[in-house]
Amino acid sequence: MMKLTRIQVLLSILFVAALLAVPMMQASSMQRSNVKVVYAGRLIDGLSSTVRTNVSIIIDNSSIREVRDGRATVEGAEVIDLSDATVMPGLIDCHTHLTMQLGRDQLLNELILRNSDRAITATVYARRTLMAGFTTVRDVGSGNFVDISLRNAINAGTIPGPRMFVATEALSITGGHGDIGGIREDLLPEPDYRNGIVNSPEDGVRAVRYLAKYGADHIKITATGGVLSIADSGAGQQFTFEEIKAIVDTARLLDRKVAAHAHGAEGMKVAIRAGVASIEHGTYLDDEAIQLFKKHGTYLVPTIIAGKSVEAAAKVPGFFPPAIEAKARTIGPLIQGAFAKAYRGGVKIAFGTDAGVFPHGQNGKEFEYMVEAGMPAIEAILAATRGSSDLIGHSENIGSIQAGRYADLVAVKGDPLADIKLLQNVSFVMKEGRVYKRDGKPVVE
Ligand SMILES: [Zn+2]
Repeated sequence: MMKLTRIQVLLSILFVAALLAVPMMQASSMQRSNVKVVYAGRLIDGLSSTVRTNVSIIIDNSSIREVRDGRATVEGAEVIDLSDATVMPGLIDCHTHLTMQLGRDQLLNELILRNSDRAITATVYARRTLMAGFTTVRDVGSGNFVDISLRNAINAGTIPGPRMFVATEALSITGGHGDIGGIREDLLPEPDYRNGIVNSPEDGVRAVRYLAKYGADHIKITATGGVLSIADSGAGQQFTFEEIKAIVDTARLLDRKVAAHAHGAEGMKVAIRAGVASIEHGTYLDDEAIQLFKKHGTYLVPTIIAGKSVEAAAKVPGFFPPAIEAKARTIGPLIQGAFAKAYRGGVKIAFGTDAGVFPHGQNGKEFEYMVEAGMPAIEAILAATRGSSDLIGHSENIGSIQAGRYADLVAVKGDPLADIKLLQNVSFVMKEGRVYKRDGKPVVE
C-alpha cells in the first residue's frame, strides 16, 4: 500500500509539473526566436585581413544567422547600433589561469587558501576577463578541478564569464615547474599522477586518462622549468621525449591536444618533436626550434605580458623568494624578443597572456606588446581570433563572424588598426547573443 501511495504521489507531482511546463516551454520558445541586428561601422571578421565597412550582423538567439552588407531590417529584431565602432569576433586568450592570481604570498597561499576561496575569487576574475572582451579562454593549469566547476557554472549561465576550455592539473615531473616545492616534506603528502606528477611514460598515460575522466578539455605539460617555481632552474628540459610522447599519444586517442610550457630550447624541441600542439612562452627559441615549429605546424603562444609583469614584480623588494626573483629578472625581459624572432621566422602565433601572473582583465595589453615587437595590428587580432580558435580546435564555433558561429562579438570605439591600445578598452561585449557590456559599462545583473 505504501508503495502505491508513493507512486500515486509521484504521478500527481509529474502531472502538475507537466501542466506548469507548457507555459514555461512557450516562454522559452519565445526567447528562442530572439533576433538581434548589429550594425557594424567597421568589421574585422576574423577570417581575412580586409576590413569591411557598413555591415549588418543578424543574430538568432546564440548564433550568427547572416552577415550582410548595408543596414539590414529584420522585423521584430532588436537593433544594436555600433556604426561608430569596429566590431570583431569575441577575443580568445589561449593561456589563462582564472583560478589563480599571483601575489606576494604565493607559497603561503598554497597552505592557507581552500579550494572554495579560489573558486569564489575565480568568479570575479572570470567576469573581469569577459568584460575585457575575451569571450573564450583556454585555461592551462588549476588545482583540484576548480577550473572544471568554474567552466560548468559559466556554461550553465549561473555566473558571467568567458567560455572556458580547461586543463585542470598541469603535468610536471617531481620537483618540476608544476610541483609546488619549497614546502617542508612532512607538511604535504607527496603528490602523484592525480595531482599531475608524472615520472614515466606509464604515469603519463594514467594522468591523461585520469584528467580526461574528470573533464579536462586539453592537457598542459611543463616541458621545462619555469619562473614561478622554487625547485627548478627555469629553463632546463624536464620531461623526456618518451614521457611527452606517451602523454601526447594518449591525449590524441581521447581527442585532446597538448600545450607545453617551455622556456629552454632543448625542452621545447623535444616537446615539438613529440607532437604537442603549442609551445607556451618559447623564451630561448633558436633557429632550429623555428624550423621545427614550422615542420610540425606547432603554435607559439607568446605571453609577452607575463614576462614583463614578472620582470616588474622582481624589482619590488621581497615580492618573490630569491630563487624566483633571479629567474624573473633573467627570463622576463626575453619573451618579447623571442616572439619577434618567431614571428619573423614564420611560426604560427596564437594569442595568450598567462593572465593570473598579472591582474585578470588586463589581457588586452598583450596586443600592444605584439605590435611593439613588429607584428601588424591586424595580424595580432587574427592571432586572437582565427589563430586561437584553430589552436583550441573549435574554429567551427568561435573565432570568426560568419553564419553558424556563436554570436560572440566585441567592439571598440575607433580603429584598433590605427591604435592597438583601443583593445585595452573594449566598449561592447556579446557572448552567445547576450550583451554583457554596452557603451563601456557592464549590463549584466
Ligand atoms: Zn601559465
